[in-house]
Amino acid sequence: MEKLSNEMEKRFRDLEENLKVIRDGISEASVKSGRSPQDITLLAATKTVPVELINHGISLGIDHIGENRVQELCEKYPSYALSNCALHFIGHLQTNKVKNLIGKVQMIQSVDSVKLASEISRLSEKQGIATDVLVEVNIGAEENKSGVSTEELYDLIPQIAAFQGVRVRGLMAIPPAGADERETMGYFSKMYKYFVDIKAKKIDNVTMDFLSMGMSSDYGQAILAGSNMVRVGSALFGPRIYQ
Ligand SMILES: *Cc1c(COP(=O)(O)O)cnc(C)c1O
Repeated sequence: MEKLSNEMEKRFRDLEENLKVIRDGISEASVKSGRSPQDITLLAATKTVPVELINHGISLGIDHIGENRVQELCEKYPSYALSNCALHFIGHLQTNKVKNLIGKVQMIQSVDSVKLASEISRLSEKQGIATDVLVEVNIGAEENKSGVSTEELYDLIPQIAAFQGVRVRGLMAIPPAGADERETMGYFSKMYKYFVDIKAKKIDNVTMDFLSMGMSSDYGQAILAGSNMVRVGSALFGPRIYQ
């Protein structure tokens, strides 16, 4: 193995520390919410993070990672150490880019239209697989933000689930960035209600196993509100360095 630069050496040590802190935070919040740490999936959000640092995280036990740009995912893909780690796509996805992801990712968390689901399904079926998806909800009803509106959600879920090449495994949301703690908790709680309600409907091809919400600044709150998958980036890997 090539010798690490001092800079990367430091990022490795920081990641080890940060991972402990986050795992403790997840444990505490899971117990407070009447669950156990194993009920919560930690997904490392890896945009801008160098692959050698991501792979160090995987060697420390991170077993879910998520990228949010197709091009970045494809460039890094040959170098990820994925034998014990699932790769997710968590960013906004254009229909014409789906072809670059199918067969590479275990889950696409950002499905917000029938058209997108249809393309994921078509290309998955072509490879003889079904791709796990989450339906992204625009819970803050923000303009220019991706995600299904809460008004459309109940209509869209069965339409998306009708495609054989996808499996609807749950919901994902990113509450408005400017919201204060109380407002954010309100958004998380609303999401949990939708999650439970849709699960109870027992719709064909909809299992509602995952409620993906909570990031570096609010994963503890999200877990208290019922999240079982948190997507943590900067609190693990440090501030993002955009080239
Ligand atoms: C970057 C990103 C995250 C993680 O954000 P942090 O605030 O750095 O934890 C979570 N979800 C999505 C969709 C992201 O793009």
